[in-house]
Amino acid sequence: LTALVKTIPKWGPHGGRLFPRANWGRWIVDCPRCHSALAVDPEYGWRDYRTRVDHAREFFECWDCGVYAEIEWPPEELWRGAERLLMMRADPMHRNFDPTTEDLNDLLWENGAHGVFDGFEALDLHGVSDHLALSVDNDKIRKDVLPETGTWVQRHLAREITRG
Ligand SMILES: [Zn+2]
Repeated sequence: LTALVKTIPKWGPHGGRLFPRANWGRWIVDCPRCHSALAVDPEYGWRDYRTRVDHAREFFECWDCGVYAEIEWPPEELWRGAERLLMMRADPMHRNFDPTTEDLNDLLWENGAHGVFDGFEALDLHGVSDHLALSVDNDKIRKDVLPETGTWVQRHLAREITRG
């Protein structure tokens, strides 16, 4: 029976697990062996369209070279906060985030550099503009009353982005 159990190989520097990153507005996991990457959603996992099998978000299997490994996701507050901050950027090509080297304050500063907060006074903030509108810790959004930014699209799935 143990022969049927897949052994998770040891990859990477953090206990042999792989870490997702946001790339062009979707979450992907890079293959540790080849140049491929797998799109994985932090809520829904991913679907293998060849076999029509749904996989949990913790399971990585490369479509190209077949290697498999375990995926370690950051805490929910962090990935949701990252999606929220990235969706403030109009261009999907600018929606990139690597939780192993960046935190939410990095995203916030980059948003400023991308001009997200230009014309801030002109936003319709329903009378809250005199108060703190957005406050971000490294690992979560503390306060957020900025306008809604739409949905995070991951393959055929879309997740409503809610305020922090
Ligand atoms: Zn591969």
